[in-house]
Amino acid sequence: MDKKQRVQRMIKLIKGVIIGYFTVSMITIIALVISVFSLKGQIKNLNRELSVATKNTYTFNMNDLYMPEFEESEEITEEIETRIYAEDISFENPENYAADGDIRTVYLTFDDGPSAVTDEILNILDDYGVKATFFVIGREDADSVARYKRIVDEGHTIAMHSYTHKYSELYSSREAFFTDFNNIRNLIYNTTGVDPKFYRFPGGSSNKVSKIPMQDICNYVSASGFTYFDWNVANGDAKGIAYTPDELVENVMKDVVKYKTSVVLMHDAAAKKNTAKSLPKLIESLQDMGCLLLPITEDTPAVQHITAQQ
Ligand code: ZN
Repeated sequence: MDKKQRVQRMIKLIKGVIIGYFTVSMITIIALVISVFSLKGQIKNLNRELSVATKNTYTFNMNDLYMPEFEESEEITEEIETRIYAEDISFENPENYAADGDIRTVYLTFDDGPSAVTDEILNILDDYGVKATFFVIGREDADSVARYKRIVDEGHTIAMHSYTHKYSELYSSREAFFTDFNNIRNLIYNTTGVDPKFYRFPGGSSNKVSKIPMQDICNYVSASGFTYFDWNVANGDAKGIAYTPDELVENVMKDVVKYKTSVVLMHDAAAKKNTAKSLPKLIESLQDMGCLLLPITEDTPAVQHITAQQ
């Protein structure tokens, strides 16, 4: 009797082990099948994300720049163009209107140098003890390198105005713009030791020639830790009209009187001799008016035709 019971218990035990084994195996198989399907789904999603990421990425020299979303579609371009025209009308910022008794701050800025005219301008600024801002383009000859250094050594602000200054190249694509941006930044850094923080877009942020949406470039430059400056006063030396030195002064003075902060656009390219000639009278007129003449620094209110959005 004991023996029979023991045999039956044994059989039960063996049956239990077999059933248990099959149950565990089945559960494992089902679990494996489920995870295979789930992994397949995850791989598909990763592939999709990867292809999207690859499409939006391009090679950059600087590793530390923030990379925003960027799409070049007809729709966006049109929307931004509308905004540019709207901004054009609102260049006049009522908060910047000067009232009687306000001290006016004036930032003299020179674009398109360095050239021989830069030397003349630097001499005059030195005579008057005035500091200004030079938005330079890329030139690697010895004279130009010496001028970059002189700008920095004499306490002026050196800033970027693109390397090539060729609108058709610069604004042809996002890659072209930022390659150029890196080139002028690196040239200034390597020749003067100054890592420039300020940029002026050739044609301004409101230019209509760029094939890439300026709003996106403005956002990008700004998000990368740089400040771009446009202008609210110009001496007119970029126009086809050959103004006399007195007229160049008059063009500035009639607008400076209106604003608390004026960023004055002028040029120091080789042909702009009248701008250099106009400078002593301009500085004297501004100082007679009690204006504070300063170089652009991080404290300067950014005068921008298109405001960066982040
Ligand atoms: Zn320019």
